[in-house]
Order: sequence, then structure tokens, then C-alpha cells
Amino acid sequence: MNYNSTRSAQTEYTVDKSMKAMLQGISPDGGLFVPEAIPTISAENIAKMQGMSYQEIAYEIMRLYLDDFTQGELQACIDKAYKKFTHPEVVPLHKLDGGVFMMELFHGATSAFKDVALSILPHYLTIALDKSGESRDILILVATSGDTGKAALEGFSDVPRTGICVFYPKDGVSDVQRLQMETQQGGNVHVAAVRGNFDDCQTAVKHAFLNEDMRAKLGDRFMLSSANSINWGRLLPQVVYYFSSYAKLLANNEISMGDSINVVVPTGNFGNILAAYYAKQMGLPIHKLICASNMNNVLTEFINTGVYNANRQFHLTTSPSMDILISSNLERYLYHVSGCDHDYVNKCMDDLKQKGEYKVSDSILSAMRKDLYGGHLSEDDVNATIKSTFEQQGYLIDTHTAVALGVHTQYVRETNDNRKTIIASTASPFKFNKAVANAINCPINGTEQEIMQKLSTAANVSIPQNLASVFSLPQRFDTTLDKDALPSYIIDAVK
Ligand SMILES: *Cc1c(COP(=O)(O)O)cnc(C)c1O
Repeated sequence: MNYNSTRSAQTEYTVDKSMKAMLQGISPDGGLFVPEAIPTISAENIAKMQGMSYQEIAYEIMRLYLDDFTQGELQACIDKAYKKFTHPEVVPLHKLDGGVFMMELFHGATSAFKDVALSILPHYLTIALDKSGESRDILILVATSGDTGKAALEGFSDVPRTGICVFYPKDGVSDVQRLQMETQQGGNVHVAAVRGNFDDCQTAVKHAFLNEDMRAKLGDRFMLSSANSINWGRLLPQVVYYFSSYAKLLANNEISMGDSINVVVPTGNFGNILAAYYAKQMGLPIHKLICASNMNNVLTEFINTGVYNANRQFHLTTSPSMDILISSNLERYLYHVSGCDHDYVNKCMDDLKQKGEYKVSDSILSAMRKDLYGGHLSEDDVNATIKSTFEQQGYLIDTHTAVALGVHTQYVRETNDNRKTIIASTASPFKFNKAVANAINCPINGTEQEIMQKLSTAANVSIPQNLASVFSLPQRFDTTLDKDALPSYIIDAVK
């Protein structure tokens, strides 16, 4: 299948294989790769998914887009990625009151939803390197504010022909996040702290990417990549769980084939909700894609007014993975909703870059509003949602998931649309333990280890193994770098 750039129709920016789209990550014109056509799946074939494992459904979805992989190659990627999940169903559903089902995306290696894609991407890349005749290995450089770095380390750990260097801000991650990274296993992983805050760290990594001396020394041994969330290989794995969850609702007689459902996604970079949009375009009966934001409500305003305005106050919230003002995957949605209008996307992205703002036409706004509903939640309402869900239904949710659940409540109040709904539950409550404990009035004066223990007792749920074990694993990395010391660290690390 061809993958086009969102910004240009010229053939020089089109690639003819998914592997090329994944290895390149981003098109040379600055656009994102999108499949030339969105394949569809018939109602009959969706119904058949009731009898399939998560891995089998993954194969049925992925093969449609990754037609340059053999069956054996793709199945090997899927098996390696999802055998690491601790739940036998990989992504189970938990039923709550009112026709709401929590789609638990947090049973992977780091207890958050990015594991679903970052567990498989490294295996896609290894095969892409081998098949494309590329002689260099791939070296991933990541600047992280906490969670993505750990998920990437776990995903790439000991995957052949890959290496990964993760940098985090010395003063910007929680104790557990730091320990998770410092104790990472694997012969091809490297971790260092950078003096300063997350911006300093991100800038240092950007400069490292451009450092000529380092590039010359890495030379013909490595190609550099960032494995970030705009890579097609990170988006595609997320399409799968919308299908597998629908199939579970069918199998449990919660719906009949063809019944439409709503999907609520706590949104930051617009990746997860875009995957739901692809599922809908492929034929999955989704009525509304409900885009849930925290106080950084740039997307809510966009969906309601057609104005995307990133010039606004930035809020630090208890759902940090959604503290984002520029949702990079929105570009792909704009491309599709504008009828693949490259010029239109270009104009919008240009305005965003120049003025921090763009406005879509009335016709695009009304097309958007057919697919999407946007809402946002205050921090008080996030806490109240965690508390009431715990007290009334005995189910503990994390802060990101609470944003989604709370926005769904608003949506139902406003529309009376109470069809069956899937809520993307993106992290284990133990991962954001302080905020969650605070919301349910559990004392938070203690270490994170103690807070997790208290949560575990209060909710009668065990702490995920990866979070419980981090306090006793040996520390492997303890380097702290100045901002300009990354290139020499990287050269040394991969010697
Ligand atoms: C990344 C992340 C999100 C946001 O997902 P996007 O694909 O960036 O919209 C939500 N919740 C958690 C826990 C995350 O890690």
C-alpha cells in the first residue's frame, strides 16, 4: 500500500511501502504519512472476531495496512509484543453502571496505554531494516517527561538491530518514574538525566539529533529515529482494540451486530482517538468519538468553534500525559476530513506555525462535528469522578481515565444519548498514585511506595508487578549530563 504525505500530493513524498513510512517516521515535506486508502471490514467479518483472540484480531487489522509484511513476519511481531501483557485478554473490558465499559489499556510492561503500540513498533522496525536491505541499525533518541521514555525502553529492550537512549529532566520526574528508568534491563538501552527541566531536556535531544560530529561518528552504523507518536507504526496498533472491544460487547450480548456505540478517549496528541476514527472509517459502528480534555482544552474549543488556538495558558494538571497544546496527530484527521486536501492541511499547519492559530471552514467544521464531540473537565471534577466511581462502583480509575468518564457524563446529560459506550482507560491508578489517593481521601504523606500500598489495600487490587518491583531492582544508570554533553554520551554509549 502507498502512504502519502498529508502536506503534498507529489510522488516524491509518497512511499510505496509501510516499512518505509515507519523507518522514515515523518515525510521530508514535514507532513505525516497516511494510508492512500482506508481498507474496510465487513459486518460479517467483524462478527467473526467474537471467536478470536486479541492477537488474531490484531493480525486481521494490521495485515490490511502492512501488506509488505509476510504473514509469518507480522504474526511474529504480534506474538512478541503481546505475550508480555499480564492479562490473558491483553485489553479486557470492565463493565460499569449505565452501559459504560472501561477498555483497560494498561496491562502492558509499564501499566499505561502507550505500551500497546511501543511493544510492537520495535519489532516492525527490525523487520523493516532487514527487508529494506538497510545496513545500519536504528538508534532511538527520546526526551521524556516520564511515561513515554519508560514504555519505549521496555519496548526496545534487547530487540535486535535497535538501540535506545532515553533522557529525562533531572528535576522533572517522579521517584517511581526515575526508578523505573534507572533500573531498566536490556543490553541495548541507555538512560541519563539532563540538568534542567523538560524543555531543556527536549532541546538538548533536538540538538543532539543535529550534531554533525556525532552523526559522523555514528556514521554508517546507525540511523537515528525518535519513535514518536506520529509514526504510523505507533498509530496502527491502536486501531485493533476498538475492534476487539466491539467484538467483546457482541460476545457478551451487550449489543447486536450493527448496533452503534460511542467511544470516549482522554486525548493529548490525538493519536488514540484518531485510531478510533480509522476504526470507524473501516466500518466499525461508532456513532460519536468523544474527545475528552483536561484544563488544556484547546481541542474542546476547536471542535466547538473550528478555531484551533494554541496561544493560551498552559496548565499543569494531574493528568500530565494530556497537558498538550499542539496535538500533532490532528493533522492526519484534518487531512481525511478535508477530503485529502493537501493544500488545505498545509495552509492550516502554516498558520499554526506562524500565528499559533488556525480556523477551519464552516463545511469542515460541520463534517468534524458529525464525528466528534469535545468536552473538558476541571481538576475538581476529575477528583470527584475518581471518588464517586470508587465509592459507588468499587472501581478505581486513574486521572486520565477520569477525564474521559467525567466528559462522558457531561455528554449524556447534554444529549440524552445513552447508547453503549467504551471508555479508553489509559493508565493504571497506581501509576498516578498520589493524585488518585488524594481524590479518594487516602492519606498522601508518605513515599510513593507507601501510597501505592495504601491504595492497594483500600481498593483491594494488587499493585502491578512492574510498579511493585521497581523499589528492589538494582540501579543500572546514574549519569547526569549537562545540556551539551548528550552527543558524547551517545557516542560512548553505543561504542
Ligand atoms: C499518552 C496518553 C494519553 C493521550 O493519548 P494521545 O494519543 O496522545 O491522545 C492519555 N492518557 C495516558 C495515560 C497517556 O499516556
